[in-house]
Amino acid sequence: MCPDLSTRTVYAGEERLKPHHALTMPIFQTSTFTFTDTADMAAFMEAQAQGRETTRLEYGRYGNPTVAAVERKLADLDGGEAALLFSSGMAAVTVTLLTFLAAGSHVILTDDSYRRTRQFVTEFLVRYQVEATIVPIGDDEALEAAIRPDTRLIFSETPTNPRLRVVDVPRLVEIARQHGLLTIIDSTFATPINLRPLALGADLVIHSATKYLGGHNDLLAGVAVGSREMIGRLRQAQALIGAICDPHTAYLLLRGLKTLALRVAHQNRAGLEVARFLEGHPRVRRVYYPGLPGHPDHAVASRQMRGFGGVVSFELDADLETTGRFVDALRIPYIGPSFGGAEGLVEQVALSAYYELSSEERAAIGISDSLVRLAVGLEDVADLIADLEQALERAFTTAPA
Ligand SMILES: *Cc1c(COP(=O)(O)O)cnc(C)c1O
Repeated sequence: MCPDLSTRTVYAGEERLKPHHALTMPIFQTSTFTFTDTADMAAFMEAQAQGRETTRLEYGRYGNPTVAAVERKLADLDGGEAALLFSSGMAAVTVTLLTFLAAGSHVILTDDSYRRTRQFVTEFLVRYQVEATIVPIGDDEALEAAIRPDTRLIFSETPTNPRLRVVDVPRLVEIARQHGLLTIIDSTFATPINLRPLALGADLVIHSATKYLGGHNDLLAGVAVGSREMIGRLRQAQALIGAICDPHTAYLLLRGLKTLALRVAHQNRAGLEVARFLEGHPRVRRVYYPGLPGHPDHAVASRQMRGFGGVVSFELDADLETTGRFVDALRIPYIGPSFGGAEGLVEQVALSAYYELSSEERAAIGISDSLVRLAVGLEDVADLIADLEQALERAFTTAPA
């Protein structure tokens, strides 16, 4: 039996019978796990030494039952053999790259990706003799040209931030496999509800669980999902690096996951409606949303995704100041980074992740002064559209103070 994903968000990965017959998974707020006597400890150590699988736990950095329940649920949702939770999405990204790259190896990243991931590779890993090439997303020729004898893996996001480009995952996997490379997909924007990269051939999926998976803007966590072998290697690295998810955060994540399918279904619907509204508005120059037929990756997205998500980026027909007035006039979404939670969030991209670049430098990488990223929350979509409408009206009619 393979129940629908919405059923699995609620039931998968959890033991049916929990301690004290509790319905919900307890938070095992403990740093360590004890042994009944020295023989018990010796037996455990012997099993470890022989590489035998044991279910009992030893110390909080090596595993926790609350964390393990979430890992089983996320492995199930993404269709992987195993999953590993981390203290943040960036911890998942960095531990993964540190584990599967070594001095003298080369990695390929696609552009329009999470800026911190690119920075980790180009500013941090270079100090350890790891080289990187960043290729334009969707450009197969550039991708193949970038592959070298020392290339180990291709890392790509889909959809990307902020322009919501969508990678053709089967095509990427095909190219990677021809050259014996690993494919790692940061699928944060898609969630397992909209995209399942492992089923399309990717070797590892990463999510910032801070976003849709947690879903309530109240935690930071990350996850990697893949084969038992790859997750085992990450677990060993994590035990040394220490970037673990604590049990309380894991519980919040488990709780958030119960409504993942409902929330994402709402955000898919609302995202599309908002994108269509913006596309039809005379003050909006361009909308970036893969659900719109005019988006360059609409065909790929329609083929491989179940929905297009709740993030809509768009450019106004306006300068930096007028765009700021529009953002300030919104009454429903909060101004701030992140996405995927109950509260809507909006940001003027030029003033957030790319603030230290000049207007010209931003333009060179396609970040215009009037680019806005709107993350739909769980508000009513008609309310949100009315809010966008009044803010557009106010921004263009109010003279600057
Ligand atoms: C937010 C985000 C990250 C980083 O995750 P944190 O939980 O903030 O560390 C990585 N990739 C993408 C696509 C993200 O949106």
